[in-house]
Amino acid sequence: MKVVVPKEFFADERRVALVPETVAKLVKQGFEVRVQAGAGVEAYFPDALYQEAGAALASDPAALYAEADVVLKIQQLDVHPATGRHEAEMLREDAALISFLEPLSQPAVMDRLAARRITSFSMDAIPRTTTAQRMDALSSMATVAGYAAVLIGAAALPRFVPMLVTAAGTIAPARVFVLGAGIAGLQAIATARRMGAVVEAYDVRLAAKEEVESLGARFVSAADLTSADMQDAGGYAKEQSAEFLQKVKDMLKDRVKNSDLIVTTARIPGARPPLLVTEDAVREMKPGSVIVDLAADMGGNCECTEAGKLVLKHGVNVYGLVNPASRMPLHASQMYSRNIANFLVHLSEKDGSRLKLDFEDEIARESCITHGGEVRHRRTRERVEAWRQKQGGAR
Ligand code: NAD
Repeated sequence: MKVVVPKEFFADERRVALVPETVAKLVKQGFEVRVQAGAGVEAYFPDALYQEAGAALASDPAALYAEADVVLKIQQLDVHPATGRHEAEMLREDAALISFLEPLSQPAVMDRLAARRITSFSMDAIPRTTTAQRMDALSSMATVAGYAAVLIGAAALPRFVPMLVTAAGTIAPARVFVLGAGIAGLQAIATARRMGAVVEAYDVRLAAKEEVESLGARFVSAADLTSADMQDAGGYAKEQSAEFLQKVKDMLKDRVKNSDLIVTTARIPGARPPLLVTEDAVREMKPGSVIVDLAADMGGNCECTEAGKLVLKHGVNVYGLVNPASRMPLHASQMYSRNIANFLVHLSEKDGSRLKLDFEDEIARESCITHGGEVRHRRTRERVEAWRQKQGGAR
């Protein structure tokens, strides 16, 4: 089976879907791997390493897409800058595709994939169960994001992070406050603790309290603002009322004021991230403080956040980080590569000769977006049907 890895072309994307280490494993197993020349260069994996690992290199993306049995990517599909054609049209009919497809926000593209009988899987739809942990790229990328956020924030601080005892006297450690203690938040806490900061964190889910405390940070909350009820069956936070969020903002105000670095990671599946840090609260912070907002791509947790930008507001530097994993492309690519290869192997015959699709299998069933001319993924299908209706029933 021909597995193709194109060069990502999304703005500021430096990661690559497969790194040479994983290519070697797949080739050994029987997969035929083709990589677009230069695909790994921005993640510091030169072409020569792919050749050593047993991949064939090719420079023409149109030919690569056309011959692929499976295309492995990271970013959602778009018009390819080299061909001027949409990637959904460049794939050959009946081919397979694995990527972060953002299916719920891309109904037109999902409709096109179904019409062209592409078998597509979205990495963000893989169930977050224990058996699928090896394939969980959401967790891998959140780990990179949490780590990168603290380093970026620490580098922007006009002060030390750890406590220092020097001939010039004792320097107090920085106070770091992490909002949202999921995968990214916990990594941010661990990283800030390793740097010597005094760390506090808040989450609405009660389960997060123990995890925060096990990392040596202080869990901050108030009556009813953290509870077991706030967590859904999948382990995610439930959507919160405006009244609840107002109480959270009031509770956080003093903590925000006394923090040197705030990392925000709060998200709710399928909804806008909660607004937790108001402009009024930012105004009260010490000049030179820093906020790194990891929810910036969806609107942000801070009122001052601008996606993809660094803004100075009331003396506070506010980073609206978008695609933070791409800022550490080497390890982000390595982790993604292991996740996507584990997933590909899970979906394939042992000798890598072809896909063996078994929709009795939870991982394949839940992550498959289109197959056999249909949109199989329920929530995506609803979005596609609504989109089709809007188009006046076209197709
Ligand atoms: P996420 O990125 O959706 O959200 C980040 C965090 O924001 C969550 O902890 C959420 O509770 C928090 N949050 C939401 N609203 C908030 C608010 N108003 N104030 C403060 N915090 C708020 O979540 P994630 O990091 O992808 O993971 C969330 C959960 O899923 C965790 O419990 C995690 O352990 C679980 N998970 C389990 C597995 C597994 O293998 N079983 C894998 C991955 C994640």
